[in-house]
Amino acid sequence: MTITHLYVDRTVADNSLAARFAERLGLTPIIVPDTRQLYDTLKNEADPWSGGKQRLLLTRNQGAFIRQCPGTKEYICCDYQILHIGTYCTMDCAYCILQSYFHPPVLQYFVNHEDLLRELDAALDQGRTLRIGTGEFTDSLIWEAWSDLTPLLVERFARQDRSVLELKTKTTAIGDLLDLDHRRRTIMAWSLNTPRIIATQERGTTSLKARLRAAAQCQDRGYPLAFHFDPIVLYPGCENEYRQVIDTLFQYVDPGNIVWISMGTLRFMPALQPVIQQRFPDSAIVHGEFITGIDNKMRYFKPLRIDIYRRIAGWIRHHAPNATVYFCMEDETVWCNSLGFSPDTHGGLPAMLDQSARRVCGVH
Ligand code: SF4
Repeated sequence: MTITHLYVDRTVADNSLAARFAERLGLTPIIVPDTRQLYDTLKNEADPWSGGKQRLLLTRNQGAFIRQCPGTKEYICCDYQILHIGTYCTMDCAYCILQSYFHPPVLQYFVNHEDLLRELDAALDQGRTLRIGTGEFTDSLIWEAWSDLTPLLVERFARQDRSVLELKTKTTAIGDLLDLDHRRRTIMAWSLNTPRIIATQERGTTSLKARLRAAAQCQDRGYPLAFHFDPIVLYPGCENEYRQVIDTLFQYVDPGNIVWISMGTLRFMPALQPVIQQRFPDSAIVHGEFITGIDNKMRYFKPLRIDIYRRIAGWIRHHAPNATVYFCMEDETVWCNSLGFSPDTHGGLPAMLDQSARRVCGVH
């Protein structure tokens, strides 16, 4: 979606990034004395979810830039850290959890990068391995046309040997990253889905082939890669189409250069269902065989999840027998019945992923 209005929090009006965003977007900044006014205006619109994608607020992150990924104790969690650079997204996926995560959802970008880099320095100096990414509360690479933060982060991670940065995206905005001296401390990651789901549920994103071409370009420049099959959506014929996606994936990338591949079936808080129905009236994704999970999210009935996971894992292993495949937010039964082991037998999921980062990225 096109950004039509640029709001600048009065407290960051002098930040050089505000001028740069204004120039590159071709918009006159609107200085906002109180950001709550913008939130209130949006909340009262008929479609605040679309409105929030067209209005960008540049502001200061007043809380922590580094946050623990909000897992649930009932499911096996990977101990991922979020680098909180901004919120929401210019792309528009029907299932996007961010539509119901923020109230109201609004594009925000935090411009107090000195604070971010200071906090990051302190975290990287702690001596423990961080797996950290910018792609949880926003897409990692939608900001590339306006901000040079990502190259700074890639270069910062290249100056240390313990931790990895993951940039997770559905874009192909890799141009400014290809020539960087990343030292394999940055993992370029793409969310993948079938062409049918991309075409019908992921408005404004790039095609599967475009994502894979971008991944191959990054691989050619030495970047390690990751892929996320999330959300896996069940529909008639989906098995064959997911299989084709996996066969295509391995025509583009070297299995030995993949740090990890995650899988997660469609899940959503009940509050998201009416939003999807209102904004994506042709979408059938909310009409599956769902149960309410112990985290109160709607999920496919467990045997259905296990069946598709087992198939996808088998197709991945056919091409990449040694790839680290894991689940985002599943329980031990699903792990054992789909992958044949519990992460506990490998020292736990965080240890499994740390080990992959060491093996493929060379951190220690
Ligand atoms: S690309 Fe990711 S963050 Fe953006 S709308 Fe889609 S699911 Fe949400």
